[in-house]
Amino acid sequence: MDVKWSIFIFKVPVGDHIILYNTLNDAMVKLKKDIFEKIDKHSFTGLEEQVNQLKDMHFLLPSNFDEKKFFMNELALKHKEDDHLTITILPTTACNFACPYCYEKGINSCIARYDVISELTTKLHSFLKNNFIKTAKIQIFGGEPTLNWKFVEKIMPVLTHIFKSFKIDYYTAITTNGYLFTIPKARFLQQFNLDEIGITLDGPKEIHDKRRKLKNGEGTFDRIIKNIDDILFNNIVPSIRIRINFDRGNLKKIPELFLFLKNRYGTSKINLTLGHITTIPLGDYQDVISYSDLADAYLYLYKEAYRLGFKMNEIYTLGALCLAKSKNSFIISPIGRIYKCLSLIGREQFIEGDIHTTPLDKVKDYLFPELYEDCFKENCPFIPLCHTGCRAESFFRYHTIHKRFCGREVMEKVNREIIKLLYG
Ligand code: SF4
Ligand code: SF4
Repeated sequence: MDVKWSIFIFKVPVGDHIILYNTLNDAMVKLKKDIFEKIDKHSFTGLEEQVNQLKDMHFLLPSNFDEKKFFMNELALKHKEDDHLTITILPTTACNFACPYCYEKGINSCIARYDVISELTTKLHSFLKNNFIKTAKIQIFGGEPTLNWKFVEKIMPVLTHIFKSFKIDYYTAITTNGYLFTIPKARFLQQFNLDEIGITLDGPKEIHDKRRKLKNGEGTFDRIIKNIDDILFNNIVPSIRIRINFDRGNLKKIPELFLFLKNRYGTSKINLTLGHITTIPLGDYQDVISYSDLADAYLYLYKEAYRLGFKMNEIYTLGALCLAKSKNSFIISPIGRIYKCLSLIGREQFIEGDIHTTPLDKVKDYLFPELYEDCFKENCPFIPLCHTGCRAESFFRYHTIHKRFCGREVMEKVNREIIKLLYG
């Protein structure tokens, strides 16, 4: 049998077994170590059944199969034929909070202009006439979007009317700090297939209030929790995504927040997202966790949350096939500038168009297939998950987005532990 292992296999030894995880198709198998070693040495006698199964699940491939070519062709095809659209609207880039780690520091804030709505309508119409789109997401982002809610009230019926006229299934998501996200606002979005509410909490009250405070220094925890109560207890959405930004300043206290959330809402109504605070561009911010300590910090929180019964991501990745790399994703700034990456909004060099003048299909994305070359040379099993890393991280670290940002060591360590925890 002339076969070879797929390069997309991540191997995790557990006792006398080895778990193989295929990052391309999400398949997983657990083999006895001696069986794995025999197959590895091409000693297949008596193992025909296992080998056939491994072939069916694409763990083993014909030895002349060009996996890199296959992957890059599929990626190009998927990219070209992508039929999902994401429109991110920014009613304002202003914020009522003064978080010490804010990456929008130093970026001028502005409030949305109403002519952006009519220009976006025109551009969206011609885009949808020329591109086949099946599903769409409207993402409301900021700054803090509730500070210019009138704009949201104005743009939502217009956008959704267009989607309906093109028979596109759409849904709405909002990312807010939660302070002014009251029931009437949530109910308003409910008319437009509200599916995802993302709110940030940075720890139990005493920690959150020190970090995520109003510009006048007042704490915000109680008011946010009151708004979450109203949304969840009135069943506006089945669950809320709680993002927790962690660093050395709040790490050890975060499990107290987990417990608070579990006791108040139960684990099924809360989807936890753990976000680490990146080193740059925060200048003198002291509490960042370096990449060498990131895996341990993340695993500490992951295990605490898992132990309490929260459903956590089964695979951890530092990069992704994200909005910036997608063809049909457009971030529209309050004054109509078009961006590709959420973390690079407000930076002149990342304006990729203007809604007044640029047809949407002329906006370039940040996929950059040439960056995959080195990842293949290094036989990295995470390519299908990481897609050469986050462009914003590359910019903050290397001052260019045309360089991959590699978090392989962190991803190996974290995923090894998660797989052991869940399947060991
Ligand atoms: S490049 Fe990074 S920050 Fe930007 S959208 Fe993608 S994952 Fe997010
Ligand atoms: S950037 Fe690093 S972790 Fe990501 S796919 Fe490339 S080699 Fe792997």
